[in-house]
Amino acid sequence: MKRNAQAKQKNNGIFQKNMELELLIEDMGVDGEGIGKKEGAIFFVKDAVLGDRVLAKIMKMKKNYGYARLLQVIAPSPYRVEPRCNYHRQCGGCQMQALDYQKQLEFKENKVKNNLKRIGGFRLPEDIPVIHPVIGMEKPYYYRNKVQFPIGTDKNGKIVTGFYAAHSHNIIPNRQCFLGEKVNEKILDVVISFMEENGITAYEEATGTGLVRHVLTRVGFRTGERMVCLVINGKSLPCAEKLVEKLRTIEGMTSILLNVNRENTNVILGREIISLWGKNFISDYIGNIKYQISPLSFFQVNPVQTQRLYEKALEYAGLTGKEIVWDLYCGIGTISLFLAQRAKKVYGVEIVAPAIADARQNARINGIENVEFFVGKAEEVLPEFYEKGCWDAQMEDMLHPDVIVADPPRKGCDEKCLETIVKMQPGRVVYVSCDSATLARDLKYLCEGGYEVREVQMVDMFPQTTHVETVALLTRKAP
Ligand code: SAH
Repeated sequence: MKRNAQAKQKNNGIFQKNMELELLIEDMGVDGEGIGKKEGAIFFVKDAVLGDRVLAKIMKMKKNYGYARLLQVIAPSPYRVEPRCNYHRQCGGCQMQALDYQKQLEFKENKVKNNLKRIGGFRLPEDIPVIHPVIGMEKPYYYRNKVQFPIGTDKNGKIVTGFYAAHSHNIIPNRQCFLGEKVNEKILDVVISFMEENGITAYEEATGTGLVRHVLTRVGFRTGERMVCLVINGKSLPCAEKLVEKLRTIEGMTSILLNVNRENTNVILGREIISLWGKNFISDYIGNIKYQISPLSFFQVNPVQTQRLYEKALEYAGLTGKEIVWDLYCGIGTISLFLAQRAKKVYGVEIVAPAIADARQNARINGIENVEFFVGKAEEVLPEFYEKGCWDAQMEDMLHPDVIVADPPRKGCDEKCLETIVKMQPGRVVYVSCDSATLARDLKYLCEGGYEVREVQMVDMFPQTTHVETVALLTRKAP
């Protein structure tokens, strides 16, 4: 009785767990969930689309908001479309397949603008005069050049592959993903029947036993070169020659590899690569720069949109051939090499040593000599150089660059890194971001340090999901 009374007091007694209610979806949350309001309470309904009228069941109720499960779409939104994938609701990969693509782009634009306002404290449009509409894709499917499929066993002991359900490691069996290439289905068929025919076991996370953990596929969109890499919890794959025999007949196959990962961890890849057949890498191009990509390298997954993003970053860098540029968080040197074509010198910084080895190799194969790469944390390498001070003309240039590009991971830049950027006083800062919340935070810091945001361009690198990539141009305010 007492507990009931408390619950009633919490939400005015109107809404309780398991209650069914009708809602009009008026907005969408940052994770793509529908938002509806009733009697002063807000409800988050996964899989409901902006404009839907739905019947939903309350799963969890807080003081003035709750989470509800979509039971039925009573009147579909004009923006609701037929999703291609039958598993889009269970699978954690796509959050917005049921929403019209143009609306997805609007959603992303609003998400970035809201973060700039709320977290960055920017007034729009006064503080950022130009925010371009998101660059979307003409064909927002089959855009990924890399897919990692987990392998497991179902209740009946059958080997399964597919994708993890949202926030879990339960595999939703599905060999046909509409974000990756169609041929992946064939690759998975070959791998699974090979495992079945030869008694090869699937890895079990709970016990740490079993052999095959993941199948990674990679393709060069421009070159057509294809890689398959089996991640195994062991040192070798029995009967590997039978797998090779089948896989190598798939069009474009250039590389069949094993990756050894014997750790009980969520990290997909281990460090060791064993070649089964062909090269250890594939090649691909962005613009006219050729990149070698190993299974362990970070390479943007949507090459079509990456080119658009990098072209924008290049435009924002405003290069004429005379400039000194730093490319922070440079990975395998993708942006650095793109910029080096039009700069005097580019310095790249990246924390992962093998990525820097790839970056140097990529510079070599493209005959690009005006780049230099450093292994280390951006927030350590940059301040170390700056604090050492100048002792010659080259150092003088290096410490006073014309442009600094930063493309950090989701958590954004460390404050020490931002502080050093401000001290170095480049005329331009080009900030490439995959998380607009940390972007907004870091732009605020830079603006307090004497910069102003001139332009923002969003690029949809991940259609059907809630993610969006953003590039911002900042310039130094006249003193
Ligand atoms: N600019 C590259 C990579 C961007 S992803 C491209 O477009 O392909 C972000 C990169 O930052 C990753 O390669 C990651 O390894 C690296 N990284 C993460 N933390 C870092 C840090 N503190 N300092 C330098 N690099 C870091």
